[in-house]
Amino acid sequence: MSEVLPDRTAAHREMKRQEMMAKVPVRYSGRAHWAFINLTTVLGIGLCLVMVERPVWWEWLFVPGFFVFANAFEWWIHRGPMHHPTRGLKILYERHTLQHHVFYPADDMAFRDPRELFYVLFPPFALPVLLLVNLPIPLLLGTFVSANLAWLFFLSVLAYYFVYEWFHYVHHLRRDSWLGRRALVGWLRTHHTRHHVLASMEKGNFNVSFPLFDWLLGTMLPEGEGESAWQTD
Ligand SMILES: [Zn+2]
Ligand SMILES: [Zn+2]
Repeated sequence: MSEVLPDRTAAHREMKRQEMMAKVPVRYSGRAHWAFINLTTVLGIGLCLVMVERPVWWEWLFVPGFFVFANAFEWWIHRGPMHHPTRGLKILYERHTLQHHVFYPADDMAFRDPRELFYVLFPPFALPVLLLVNLPIPLLLGTFVSANLAWLFFLSVLAYYFVYEWFHYVHHLRRDSWLGRRALVGWLRTHHTRHHVLASMEKGNFNVSFPLFDWLLGTMLPEGEGESAWQTD
């Protein structure tokens, strides 16, 4: 069992969950949060596509290249600061290890109420912060390479963030929902659920979207003890 998070009985967990739900701001709406993420990313991607002018083939290649890089970054930030308190990034540890993992143990992954999305999605300020922190990159690309690459950088960040949030959203959807019943969703959910086993969360399955770097770096978790209690995919 993890040294960080003790395992809890069902009653204990329910009490903790209720305690955490009481901390969700009264005005919070999970539906509005989810709509905000979808609207900002889709509109942002649309704007970038409008701004790109007659891109050449190598400029388009930037997008898949960025996706591979972002997958490595996702693996690193999840394995590192999201599971270990790191100076300047403690909020990631608190929200992910101390909140998200406590709220959703492997045998109870699905959110029951849209208000629980508070503990599933990144907060609404995450995307603006991400774009601001990375701003020097498109500025340099626009100045020294091409304006198209600057817009394709923004497009790639927005698209990857969109994919990440959607993947994590479906991992925590009820498995009997329409999307939850899809075979691909089931496979990806199993990958993420193995990571939600408290004893395994620091060992592997750090990719939340497609598990490319888990596969490349040998951190794919095998079928684990007690898995039959939750895994029916
Ligand atoms: Zn999760
Ligand atoms: Zn985790």
